[in-house]
Amino acid sequence: MAALGRRALIVTGKSSARCGALADITSALGENGQTYAVYDGVRPDPTLACVRKGLALLKESGADFVVGIGGGSPMDAAKAIALLAAEPREDGAVFSGGYGNAALPVVCVPTTAGTGSEVTPYAILTNDAARTKTSLFSPAIFPKLAYLDGGYTEGLPPAITRNTAMDAFSHAAESMLKQSSSPASELFARESLRMLYPILSSLKTPTAGERDSLLLAASLAGMAIAQTGTTVVHGMGYFLTYDYGIPHGRANGLLLGETLRLCEEQKVAALSEICAACGAGVTEICATLSALCGEREKLPKAKLEEYAIRTMGTKNVKKCKFELHPEDALRIFLHSFGLSS
Ligand code: NAP
Ligand code: ZN
Repeated sequence: MAALGRRALIVTGKSSARCGALADITSALGENGQTYAVYDGVRPDPTLACVRKGLALLKESGADFVVGIGGGSPMDAAKAIALLAAEPREDGAVFSGGYGNAALPVVCVPTTAGTGSEVTPYAILTNDAARTKTSLFSPAIFPKLAYLDGGYTEGLPPAITRNTAMDAFSHAAESMLKQSSSPASELFARESLRMLYPILSSLKTPTAGERDSLLLAASLAGMAIAQTGTTVVHGMGYFLTYDYGIPHGRANGLLLGETLRLCEEQKVAALSEICAACGAGVTEICATLSALCGEREKLPKAKLEEYAIRTMGTKNVKKCKFELHPEDALRIFLHSFGLSS
């Protein structure tokens, strides 16, 4: 990190700060003769207000680079702070895209094994005006460095381990189902699926070796979506997170199985590749995801019908290898929550 600046703003959350990563980073900064300020106010699904607070602290402290330590939420908040510091925007323009290639340098240390945010050019924030979550994109927020240590994820509660692993799995599978997938992105996605599926399907507390594998597999999946982006599954999941607080990875895990079934009906060739990488059939993969999700939330049918309509206006509907019509979106939402169509 010595080359990145003189003073760091460390962006983290309350639990993620306690897993050992913050102590390791501050000690490394000290050895480098670099100083730092800590913003530990990031909560899951960061808001613009949270990013603004971090920006204020960045200015006040004179920091010239940003270190995100935590799950996707603190890492994304760190990336958004680094971006908006270089390209200030009014609240109303933050989500309108078109960012240039300027940001403060970012370092990321993941403490969950899921989002792969440490290797992507995206920062996903809660967008109250659109009642969903929206991605900020700039090549400048590709972290300059990402430090991966499975030991930091050892204290993760089982539900967070499951949800974040499903996020990683969803990234790898969705990347394969994107029209923009390429031989290079598929290499990362296939290897990620190969590493993830056996751990996911065993449903037990991961061993230390498995924690390392989950973290690496999540990063490989991140490298895949860094090139392809995610599919409509993520767009659909954001509604569930925004309205009902369903954790991000769980939201994807809930919707992915029914999406894979749709791909099976449409004989999407990439599905066979996903199954081959997992060493399992579609039915088995769906059963694994279903077991990981456990009991479903009870959501009103009218709300799911509203989401199906809104899904058709999301940006990735026409960029997937499967076709999605309004009745398909509705069926995915209903069946994912145990309701009949
Ligand atoms: P998260 O929202 O960052 O964290 C979930 C929970 O895990 C928090 O309560 C957090 O506590 C806790 N936690 C984190 N590390 C821990 C540790 N080592 N030990 C114990 N608890 C720990 O969850 P996430 O699933 O990693 O990230 C989800 C976010 O990432 C969403 O906003 C999603 O949209 C975004 N995302 C971004 C990308 C991208 O490419 N940028 C990709 C996918 C998802 P504290 O908050 O107290 O630390
Ligand atoms: Zn995700």
